Amino acid sequence: MPPFSYTSALDLSSATQLAASDPTARFLAGGTTLVDLMKLDIERPTQLIDITSLPLAEVVALPDGTLRIGAMVRNADLAHNELVRTRYPMLSQALLAGASGQLRNMATTGGNLLQRTRCPYFRDTATPCNKREPGSGCSAIGGYHRMHAVLGTSASCIATHPSDMAVALVALDAVVRVHGRAGERVIPLAELHRLPGDHPERETVLEPGDVITAVDVPALPFASRSLYLKVRDRASFAFALASAAVALEVEGGRVRDARVALGGVGTKPWRSRDAEAVLRGRPASRETYRDAARAALANAVPRTHNAFKIELAQRTLVRALTRLERR
Ligand SMILES: Cc1cc2nc3c(=O)[nH]c(=O)nc-3n(C[C@H](O)[C@H](O)[C@H](O)COP(=O)(O)OP(=O)(O)OC[C@H]3O[C@@H](n4cnc5c(N)ncnc54)[C@H](O)[C@@H]3O)c2cc1C
Ligand code: SF4
Repeated sequence: MPPFSYTSALDLSSATQLAASDPTARFLAGGTTLVDLMKLDIERPTQLIDITSLPLAEVVALPDGTLRIGAMVRNADLAHNELVRTRYPMLSQALLAGASGQLRNMATTGGNLLQRTRCPYFRDTATPCNKREPGSGCSAIGGYHRMHAVLGTSASCIATHPSDMAVALVALDAVVRVHGRAGERVIPLAELHRLPGDHPERETVLEPGDVITAVDVPALPFASRSLYLKVRDRASFAFALASAAVALEVEGGRVRDARVALGGVGTKPWRSRDAEAVLRGRPASRETYRDAARAALANAVPRTHNAFKIELAQRTLVRALTRLERR
């Protein structure tokens, strides 16, 4: 590991100033992604700016019904928060489906959103990877890509975004609050992550010095009836092959409103407005759910080892909607 300096940020302004003046600086939150990647020689920061003592670790219910989640709130605390459990069960379930108890005790809300892909070639410095080394090529496209994405891919990168939490948050229309060089701004979570396109190394729209301070989840009464379903190779401690975050409002046997997002299949947390449009106004039935699932995966691009994910993701979505309807 190359040498680096360590600074504990005293306030947001100094954290932003320090990071903005040094493009190789990194913020240190729970460290469960960053320190791993430093050990693998993939992240090589010259400066670590520790943001764990910034006062960003609260979950606050705002008067308009929005839930403001501080960027330093640990994944375990958020999953067990009573307001999250009752207002947004899918968010609590997504958090508990991720990683392990020990990791969730360390991992933070901001760090979880910015975790890097688990593509094995990205984590292996002996193989070409456009995300790690722009222009070097993508080892996954011609290699083994069973875990890789079928939605939002490009000729340069097919890596999935690994976060479970982000899938629930994108379904809930969450907004990310950022402190940067020009002050505070908000970014809809759906716009935080970029599609890989020709530049998979650019993963988000954040700029040097930007600190995520909080995530706002707007009020959504029907989200109290929501669910996160994750399908993976092992019952725990495994990333999603496919997952679905769903919320349903059913009235008189018909779907009045719905939220759908998918994980494990997209290069970013994948909101499916197409599936939502199919669901709205239709009978709450298995046939409707199947049509919605087909719409959600209509633009999927299968490859040799991951073609199975299209059927798997469709079934995952149908199962999630069916389970939810029966509750
Ligand atoms: C073995 C293992 C299994 C896992 N399984 C899963 C899983 O099944 N599902 C899942 O979703 N996740 C899983 N994870 C990933 C885990 O959820 C993430 O590592 C964790 O959420 C990252 O949070 P952190 O606070 O530790 O981030 P850090 O490692 O501290 O930071 C990650 C990145 O975000 C930046 N950053 C952090 N906070 C901020 C901020 N507030 N503003 C700006 N930049 C910031 C850092 O500079 C760094 O670049 C797993 C991880 C491991 C090691
Ligand atoms: S899929 Fe993306 S992260 Fe994986 S090797 Fe290709 S460019 Fe790198």
